[in-house]
Order: sequence, then C-alpha cells, then structure tokens
Amino acid sequence: VLVYYNGDYVPKSEATTSVYDHGFLYGDGVFEGIRAYNGRVFKLKEHVDRLFDSAKAIAMEIPLSREEMSQAILETLRKNNLSDAYIRPIVSRGVGDLGLDPRKCKTPNIFIITQEWGAMYGDLYEVGLKAVMVATRRNAPDALSPNIKSLNYLNNILAKIEANAKGGDEAIFLDSNGYICEGSGDNIFIIKNGKVYTPPTISNLKGITRATAIELLVERGYEVLEVNVGFFDLFTADEVFVTGTAAEAAPITKVDGRLIGDGKPGPITGEMVKAFEEITGTTGTA
Ligand code: PLP
Repeated sequence: VLVYYNGDYVPKSEATTSVYDHGFLYGDGVFEGIRAYNGRVFKLKEHVDRLFDSAKAIAMEIPLSREEMSQAILETLRKNNLSDAYIRPIVSRGVGDLGLDPRKCKTPNIFIITQEWGAMYGDLYEVGLKAVMVATRRNAPDALSPNIKSLNYLNNILAKIEANAKGGDEAIFLDSNGYICEGSGDNIFIIKNGKVYTPPTISNLKGITRATAIELLVERGYEVLEVNVGFFDLFTADEVFVTGTAAEAAPITKVDGRLIGDGKPGPITGEMVKAFEEITGTTGTA
C-alpha cells in the first residue's frame, strides 16, 4: 500500500507524522472521504472543492492547487492499482510545538490514503438499518460549523458509541435546536405522502451524496423540501433513508425500536438505492 505524503508516494509504514503535528495534538486539520467505482472517482471536483472550503474555513492554506490535489488523488489510486476504493485525503496544520497557535506550524502536511472498499452496509440495503437517536448533539453552527469536515469528529464518535451501546447500526443526531440533524456519517431524508424532506445544511455536513440524491429525486418528479424536521416527522414518516459517500443511499426501518412505516424499506428509498447502484455501477451489496 502506497500513501501520498507531501508529494511522495511512500509505503504505509513510512506515512507518519510527528506527535507535534497539530492535527494530532488538537484535531487541527481537514479531510475528505471519496469513493472510486470501476476506476472512476465519484464527484472528485465536489470533494476537492469541499476540502479547500473546509481548509479556508479554518484559515489554512493548502500548499497545492485544486488541480494538483485532484491529480494526487487519482495518482494514489493508480499507484495502488485500485478500482473500487475509498480515498481519504487529509490536510493537517502541520508540525508546531505544544502551543495551539496555528502560526507555529510552518506548513500543512498532506496525506492521501486509499483502500479497497465496497458498500458499507451489506445486506442492510435490503432490510434497512436500525437507528438510534443519541443524546450527543451535533456541534452548533455558531460553535464549530458542522459544514467543516475537520479532524474534530469527537461528537460523531460519541454518537457512534451511543448507537453501538444500544445495538443500532447508525446514530441520528439532533441539532442544537433539537431538530433532526443527520447521522454520524451521513445525511438524512424523510418521506411522507410522496414528498421528501431533508434538514437544511446549516446544521449538518453539506453532503455530496445528499446533493446527488436531491438531483435524482427531482429528476424522478419528487418534491424535495429542505426544511426543519422534528421527532413527530421522523416517527410518522412513511420512509427514512440516509445518504453518504460510504453508505450511498441506505434505508432506515427502525428508530429507537419503533418501526418506520411498515418496517420495510419503502418504494422511494428503493428507487434511490437502485439509482445509486446505477450511477456508480455497483450492486450495492459488494
Ligand atoms: N454527515 C457527516 C457527519 C459525514 O461525515 C458525512 C460523510 O462524509 C456525510 C454527512 C455525508 O457526506 P457525503 O455524502 O459528502 O459523503
């Protein structure tokens, strides 16, 4: 396995940074999660743009152009001979000292890791995921913007720990106002009477799969409303599904032990799962 490390492709054992890297000391850095299907990188431009936006939001200048970053991502994939893969670019603030002032860090460290990957939920695309609403809130937009895909993923990890403890496949966050927000690593959609609702992205990550799902739904004639969604809407929904680079589109059929609709993936969710299989050229069950 070769990892991109500041312009070189090095064996994974050599892809290491200092304990003084502020990415390690403080979670000071940004990242992306990208998929390649049949040797083609899905939504590369969107992911590279979001990486640069995340960096800009934390006042960090990535020492590559967007084009160079895109080429490095493609080259990492090629060097590892992978066609169905997950790709993880990481840009950390770089090495400084124990003070948290980012001016102490001379230059960001850039890593690109890739590994073979299939759709993450296996059989659950057919039966649906069990979700758990968690006490951990997604960070508020006036604190650390959830739009920044930063190396601070502790809230998401705490959410996952809660879901794991309760036997859930995925966590559902509330936002700081108590509205349904998103999953620990995916955005959420709710369907009622043929209309599709999804929370506005002020409170969650501007998911690239979310944007794709909206496009696919609109193309198929569905009305998609980006509005606040509450408990009531979730528990009375006909269908619920989540979207993400790793999950693609995946049905949620149970929340906190209660059935969503009749407890089976619904027809619009099914259309979305299939639509993603078509545009990515996979079976969805890897
Ligand atoms: N929400 C969170 C918190 C995430 O980490 C992710 C994954 O990147 C998503 C949503 C889904 O975003 P995308 O579809 O761009 O992968």
